[in-house]
Amino acid sequence: MNFENITIILVNPSHPGNIGACARAMKTMGLSQMRLVKPRREVDADAIARSAGAEEILYQAQYFDDLKTAIADCQLVIGTSARQDVPDVIDLSFREAASIAVEAVAERKVALVFGREHAGLNNDELALCQYHAYIPANPEFSSLNLGAAVQVMCYEVFLASQNISKPVETRLQDAYATQHEIELLFAHFEKTLADINFYDPNNPRRLMPKLRAMFNRTQLLKSEVAILRGILTAVDAK
Ligand code: SAH
Repeated sequence: MNFENITIILVNPSHPGNIGACARAMKTMGLSQMRLVKPRREVDADAIARSAGAEEILYQAQYFDDLKTAIADCQLVIGTSARQDVPDVIDLSFREAASIAVEAVAERKVALVFGREHAGLNNDELALCQYHAYIPANPEFSSLNLGAAVQVMCYEVFLASQNISKPVETRLQDAYATQHEIELLFAHFEKTLADINFYDPNNPRRLMPKLRAMFNRTQLLKSEVAILRGILTAVDAK
């Protein structure tokens, strides 16, 4: 299985020690690709110590200014949250999410996104994800430490990978769209729908989040994005 195609993304982590713990959690389960979105503090001696021998993951980590840029080249994005109250999204347990990730990994670059220690991922960030995954836990105390949550996810990915006896056959003629291509599609929709007065930016009525949620559920291919952009361009020309 191509574990290189799975990236663990940490959004604004506060504690370098937690970043180190995540690197350790990843390496124990065979994952190596880490992306960091604006960590509050730099990777330091505490991070290296807590990585307990997985420091190469820290040294090779890629840095980004925001989540949108960090997932631009990804084709499946799973956000993690202890919350299950975000509208219009598909909630999965970590086990279900890991199995979807492992099935996708032969042909797609997959991002597993983790939030801030104190505040998790915000709604805008969760809206960028096709699925939301949660660790079933005590409803009155459901928030795990960041490193512990990453450990559970990497473990589930490892277990799911053991159940795949042969690579899933590719049946599609085309590749999945990247998040960057999907963002360009949303921007085009927003502009065209405003131009034809279907969408009023001053009275948005959740239209764009609804459309985003719909497309997040459909796993668009590159060719499908091209068709939709072509339709919008034809409408623009009218
Ligand atoms: N108070 C925050 C908790 C943040 S814990 C909140 O309400 O979201 C830090 C990160 O660990 C979360 O953003 C998420 O990525 C992960 N995490 C912790 N507990 C989790 C759980 N039960 N299910 C899924 N992810 C969890």
